[in-house]
Amino acid sequence: MRDSCLATALSLLAFVVTASIGRADVLRGSSGAAYVSILAMDRIAIRYFEGCSGAEERSIPWSEVESVTFEPSCGSAIAEATLAAPDCPDGSLDVFVVDLGGQATPVVAESVAITADRTVHLDTFHPWEQAHGPVSTVRSIARRKICRNRIPESYELPSSFCHEGRQVAVAFDYRAPLSNKILTNGFSFILQPVGPIPDGFDVDAFGAEVRNAFQSGISLWMSSVKDMEARLSPDLRKFLDGRTSRSPNGYQLFIPPQVIRLACPQSATFVVELGFDDLELFPKFPLVLARAKIEGRTIALNMRAFKCFRSQLKFGPDKRLSFELDDGCINLVPIMAHELGHAFGLNHVDNETTHALMDSQFSRDALVPTERDTLALATILEESIVGAAPGVLKFVSSSGVRPPADWKDSPPN
Ligand SMILES: [Zn+2]
Repeated sequence: MRDSCLATALSLLAFVVTASIGRADVLRGSSGAAYVSILAMDRIAIRYFEGCSGAEERSIPWSEVESVTFEPSCGSAIAEATLAAPDCPDGSLDVFVVDLGGQATPVVAESVAITADRTVHLDTFHPWEQAHGPVSTVRSIARRKICRNRIPESYELPSSFCHEGRQVAVAFDYRAPLSNKILTNGFSFILQPVGPIPDGFDVDAFGAEVRNAFQSGISLWMSSVKDMEARLSPDLRKFLDGRTSRSPNGYQLFIPPQVIRLACPQSATFVVELGFDDLELFPKFPLVLARAKIEGRTIALNMRAFKCFRSQLKFGPDKRLSFELDDGCINLVPIMAHELGHAFGLNHVDNETTHALMDSQFSRDALVPTERDTLALATILEESIVGAAPGVLKFVSSSGVRPPADWKDSPPN
């Protein structure tokens, strides 16, 4: 047992064979075991209620926990032996060993999280993936040191799991740095088609256009807020400062929150609906390009009435974005920027004397955030807003945005 690496961990975990219904969670550390109800965890700490039906919320760092098991009932915990640290010639790694029950070997994860919706999220090594599934499938999660060369080359997941390759983005995480929780240090979205997808429509290629427009929309808003830094509150300045890197010669680089597109819905912060046939959201009149849940995380595009959207962040000689692009497609960048304004909580402006991005009808001289839009966003970012969950599509208070008044749809071929 001296050279115990993963093999020992596996055999020990095999003792903790329990069903996971009627749950009672057990935290084990060097000082013993305790029954708890886990609320959430990430790779750093675990939040829980004490006891099987406790009400006082507590938190414990993983550094004080050896394992968490998910027991069938309160009081049935099986004592688990402590593992000696492995002696690895090529060094050891801190990992999480996750027993999902029914699989031949547990999953070895670099990071593990449980969210309030009772979903477990795993960052795995081989393949380098993220996997998401119901906590009810998990038997145990143990913090272990294992030898680098002993990480299994593959793993199996229950069919209730969704998994996809991990993506790398700069300064990316899902923390919300301000009172408005819609704004996170990174955004992710899934596409959700509603209605039949037309023959030949390339969902992946369109997903790339949506991602680019989403990223451009975030970047336009954030850089316009940064441009008025001197007028902002200390909290907002601190947020912007935290996303700015400086070189010794005084060069500054501002990195707006990055946007990634996901296939698994479990960790997406936004849903972008492709309304191919959604007459509830997009009736024939009024003709709108897109809609968004105000204080929400759902944006819907009117794919039925407008046959072609594409993303182009290119300013013309008049320093404006184009609404129509050379190939006749409509530019998604101002649309996503406008809808993101709604998502953060902005309503339509519709001032009679000046144009704004947040008007209910686009104007060609306001396809990016104006000073008025930017001040409104800076204000609402400091309001205490939780917002609707992604995919909440009941647009109780939402507004569509219309094309510019002089826009003429290209005639069908
Ligand atoms: Zn609108």
